[in-house]
Amino acid sequence: MTTVRAAAHVHSEWSDDATWSLPAIAAAFGERGYGVVLLADHSREFPAGRLDEYRAACAAASTPEVLLVPGIEYNDPDNLVHVPVWGDVPFYGATPDIGGLLAKVAADGGSAVLAHPWRRDAWRRYDPAWSPLLTAVEVWNRKYDGVAPNRHAAALARREGLPSFAAVDFHTRRQFFPLAVALRLDTGRPDPQAVYRSLRSRQFEAVFRDRPVSGLAGGGGGRAAKAAGRAMEVVERARRTSAPVLRRLRRN
Ligand SMILES: [Zn+2]
Ligand SMILES: [Zn+2]
Repeated sequence: MTTVRAAAHVHSEWSDDATWSLPAIAAAFGERGYGVVLLADHSREFPAGRLDEYRAACAAASTPEVLLVPGIEYNDPDNLVHVPVWGDVPFYGATPDIGGLLAKVAADGGSAVLAHPWRRDAWRRYDPAWSPLLTAVEVWNRKYDGVAPNRHAAALARREGLPSFAAVDFHTRRQFFPLAVALRLDTGRPDPQAVYRSLRSRQFEAVFRDRPVSGLAGGGGGRAAKAAGRAMEVVERARRTSAPVLRRLRRN
């Protein structure tokens, strides 16, 4: 048994709205202490015939420090509900019906997570029939919820009896943030199959630094997380501005 920090919900240049290459993602997240990156590239413009090529590219860009795990973030035809999917599963189409998608993913042994339920009021479309088919709910999405967990999303997860997920929803540097999903693996070293098993059997915990997000999502914990989150933004901004200076200094 090992535990590894995963950066969940990361977009690469395989998405229509992101530009980071897979090797750059491996390097940047490795530098920030992650051992796994759960990619979630958009379904909407995904070249359907290229899933194998995408998987091979993730394997090729993985390093001894960081495993890149391919994944697709599906959206419904109205672009309201978003569902990242991981596992040894096929491509389900650019804009699938979400109920049908979840049933197929469950039948195929994959894992599906409800993303940012408060983006564009996606939660209004929530069908309780989805609950037994979902693996988790994003209660903190860095891009849409900002520097604190979303207590409405946390309440939805609690109501439906679903585990919490924490997502960086990485598109640009702005979304680096110390959120992780701590995955318990049944192998010594991460490999995609071990990660899929961990997700499927819900052997994970969403964390902000080392603290479980579930403990932060209600009441005063949320405020503490917000303050800590703001501080982290400052650190990350300092890192961005100092990096070019340090590079220049090193060159001289
Ligand atoms: Zn999304
Ligand atoms: Zn996304």
